[in-house]
Amino acid sequence: MSDPQHLVIVEHDVEGHATGFVEADPELPQLRVTDVAATRGDGVFETISLGAGHPQALDAHLERFARSARMLDLPVPDAGIWADAVRTLAEHLADHDEAWVKIVLTRGVEGQPMPTGWAYGTVSPDFRRERTEGIDVVLLDRGLRSDVMRTSPWLLAGAKSLSYAINRAAAREAARRGADDAVLVSSDGLLLEGPTSTLVVRRGDELLTPPVEHGILPGTTQVDLFAAAPEWGLHGRVASLTPDDLLAADGAWLVSSVRHAAPLRSVEGRSLPVDGGLSAAMNGFLRGRRA
Ligand code: PLP
Repeated sequence: MSDPQHLVIVEHDVEGHATGFVEADPELPQLRVTDVAATRGDGVFETISLGAGHPQALDAHLERFARSARMLDLPVPDAGIWADAVRTLAEHLADHDEAWVKIVLTRGVEGQPMPTGWAYGTVSPDFRRERTEGIDVVLLDRGLRSDVMRTSPWLLAGAKSLSYAINRAAAREAARRGADDAVLVSSDGLLLEGPTSTLVVRRGDELLTPPVEHGILPGTTQVDLFAAAPEWGLHGRVASLTPDDLLAADGAWLVSSVRHAAPLRSVEGRSLPVDGGLSAAMNGFLRGRRA
């Protein structure tokens, strides 16, 4: 049997304001071929995990959606309408322990003033292996300096834009090198993030994550993990990190909304300690979030 899928179209007026949403058939074509989402990857998105029908970190995702829209000079999305759209899909998926909703806002059809918006939800893949056994990662040079946001904001580093072909290419390069995932590194040698995840490194009783000022996405999962860290006798801190810091770490994870916390068991073929108990506690906490 195929996975359940649900879709709503978020409608907009000529001023770019959302006016409401309607449920639609995800099996039918909905997007015009002249929509700049398809022709230029010109838009923004978010992927929100659902725990038994509860959207997780919804406010943080909607804030980041608005931040990305501002970075791309798109109309700022109406948080109330988008939250209702996500909750409508979440109700349809409430029978599933783990599901997700992707929300998308594009600049619209070429030559027309209205943005295009939709939200699509389905069940999550099974990530038990990644969460328990861990993942092997390689380091990939992103080719941009860590001050790219300041020097070249038009590169949109740190925006969750639809132009994810580079992120997908990085994941394929990792696979070609025999790894499960990648950690991107700035051209001046600082650790950044995964192609679809935030890096969290454990050193002693600290959890460390790179600064968003280095041109990375502010992670919602990382923020929730740092808020919960005292439960595990840890505290979170933002810090610039190098590949040597990662190799010397007491543990490291790539964390994100749908896969949650995937411990790194090796970096460039060199083993890292995997703390199964702490990883299980993190994933239990992340899966169990009800807001
Ligand atoms: N960094 C990038 C580039 C991402 O694409 C994502 C999520 O897709 C993340 C970090 C993690 O963000 P979140 O924890 O909000 O899912």
